[in-house]
Amino acid sequence: MITRFAPSPTGPLHLGHAFSALKVWEAAQAANGTFLLRIEDTDSTRVRPEYEALIYDDLAWLGLTWPTPRRQSDHYDDYWKVLDHLQHQGLIFPCSCSRRMIEAAGRGYGPDGPIYHGACENRSMGEARPTDAIRLNIAKALRLLPREITYIDTGSKVTVDPTTLVHTVGSPILRRIQTGDPAYHLACTHDDALQEVTHVIRGKDVAALTPIHVMLQTLMGWPIPIYHHHDLITDDDGKRLAKINKSRALTTYRAEGLTPSDIRQMVGL
Ligand code: GLU
Repeated sequence: MITRFAPSPTGPLHLGHAFSALKVWEAAQAANGTFLLRIEDTDSTRVRPEYEALIYDDLAWLGLTWPTPRRQSDHYDDYWKVLDHLQHQGLIFPCSCSRRMIEAAGRGYGPDGPIYHGACENRSMGEARPTDAIRLNIAKALRLLPREITYIDTGSKVTVDPTTLVHTVGSPILRRIQTGDPAYHLACTHDDALQEVTHVIRGKDVAALTPIHVMLQTLMGWPIPIYHHHDLITDDDGKRLAKINKSRALTTYRAEGLTPSDIRQMVGL
């Protein structure tokens, strides 16, 4: 078993991250497998080096160890090779639509935010500008996909009719607008394949994005890992802990003198 914890250094780790990291760690230990740490630092507008440093400190403090982490920002060329491959298949297009424009088109919201209305779908890659987003053309992708895609999530078989993604997501983003950074779906699925991750263990907050990932894996011929989406740690009001909530940062608890076993107890492990 190879599994991974893949935080984004856009804020300090909080109790929810500790819970997730420990779940991943324990699964790897129980199977005598490998625990990988991956730094998902592709959102250049939000990533900060001090948060990356805190990830290493907090996880080491919790007692975890890992081989050299993969930092996604060091590997943009890998992600552009995936785009080249998809471009050769005629599956991607440049898009200049802002979030506001997509929202104004009124298709509503899905698991990946406002549902894309397809305005740029007929543009060719020849006219792509560096500030354009790049999207996967969902209609064209459907022609190459089987009628059903299946994967295991939390012990059950999930069957998705890929045509439903037209209505729930639209053409998913692969390269971000303005910054030109690789988008999460692209970098995450590429790296899970490259790192031969067999078990993806992560929070339920991203469970609804997994069909997008499985679609990309299918198009790229990558193996489909086994997924497990664990419960989320909530605060006293039942609200999901956000990174914004600095008071619940692990570093704060560390500074207050709590121990890793206190943290385990707080998250119910
Ligand atoms: N970087 C993502 C996050 O922090 C990782 C999600 C995943 O494990 O795929 O939410």
